[in-house]
Amino acid sequence: MNILIKNVFFKEKITDILIEGNIIKKMGENIALDVFPDKVIDGTNKAVIAGLVNCHTHSAMTVFRGWGDDMELESWLSDKIWPYEAKLTDEIVYWGAKLACLEMIKSGTTCFNDMYWRIDAVAEAVADMGLRATLSSVTLDASNSQSVKTVVDNVEKSFCNRKNYSALTTFALGPHAIYTVSKKILQWIDDFSKANDLLIHIHAAETQTECNNSIKSFGMTPIRYLNSIGILSPRVIIAHGIWVDDEEIDMLAANDVKVVHNPNSNLKLASGYRFKYHEMKDKGITVGIGTDGCSSSNNLDMIEAVKIASLIGKAWRNDPTATTAKEMFKCATVNGGKILRQNIGKVQEGCLADLVLVDLNSPAFTPNFNFISNLVYAANGNDVDTVICNGKVLMENKHVPGEDEIMKMASKAAHKLFFEL
Ligand SMILES: [Zn+2]
Repeated sequence: MNILIKNVFFKEKITDILIEGNIIKKMGENIALDVFPDKVIDGTNKAVIAGLVNCHTHSAMTVFRGWGDDMELESWLSDKIWPYEAKLTDEIVYWGAKLACLEMIKSGTTCFNDMYWRIDAVAEAVADMGLRATLSSVTLDASNSQSVKTVVDNVEKSFCNRKNYSALTTFALGPHAIYTVSKKILQWIDDFSKANDLLIHIHAAETQTECNNSIKSFGMTPIRYLNSIGILSPRVIIAHGIWVDDEEIDMLAANDVKVVHNPNSNLKLASGYRFKYHEMKDKGITVGIGTDGCSSSNNLDMIEAVKIASLIGKAWRNDPTATTAKEMFKCATVNGGKILRQNIGKVQEGCLADLVLVDLNSPAFTPNFNFISNLVYAANGNDVDTVICNGKVLMENKHVPGEDEIMKMASKAAHKLFFEL
């Protein structure tokens, strides 16, 4: 399948883009073809950007949107989240994840890094929606009586099941956090990840309480603990990484660990806001951006997350030149591709065709002196018009096929979870 995007705005110029199969084959003015392409998209009054990469989320938590806000973290988790997560079914997770995919497509995200329960149901939703994703199953053992063998068996079983997933899905390991996963399992996960070249997706250094408890339990802070048990490696993706000092940043850099900033979730849960982007970047750490799940962020709009990442970085440093729109946008595209080890995140010949067209015929882009500034500071996900993932059109003219049914079914699934089960 060939797609020709005509006359689209890119880097202050108007260009054509030819997609052949799943690759950006050619870019330039007035591309002439010997044969008529299978599809032509008129890019007039639209700008092209790379599909956004959401590096940390729990997709099916869309069903928890608005269910328990403005609460203390502990009572929020124990009263509003955990009792209901225990009741989740494959059907609820499927519709929750499908709603998340819909929301991501509608706001310009083409690839995401997920950690949640019932990974097979998430994988089915991802396959149905045509997105690219790295999926991990929540793994934990410290807070319940699950034996090491049970946990290992479950991970190995889901590792085998990955063969049934879509070709755009990558399997990863998801140890929840140092306070929910034992040292034994963390080390086994590291071995398994090494043997099978799998990414490890873990929450770490998210709150001050986590740090204090880590010092109480292990005699050291979370990153030092992970370093001391030998599981920091280039395969590790740390979500949050708010509470880290210079020595810990050195440990992350020395092991080429990737870090994902989740500004909205950190603000809403009052986890902390001094994300040390510049300190990490100066040491060569690749930083991505995530939304976190809809229970704590409460949307999956990566354009909003990029804006907040930029604003919050300026605010706590008292420096309006810090964390620029351009740099935070790069974190959400180029760096996301690097973190998830995919040839995405760039509008460039030879890259995978994960592309988003933004509607310039909107107040947010008028006047359009500085496109990236308008995109990050003035626009939001609703300005996205067309989404292509792996060379396939998932949304055109702001419409995703079947979207009404997905919203209806996901809402029904949420009601079932909270009021019927
Ligand atoms: Zn999270």
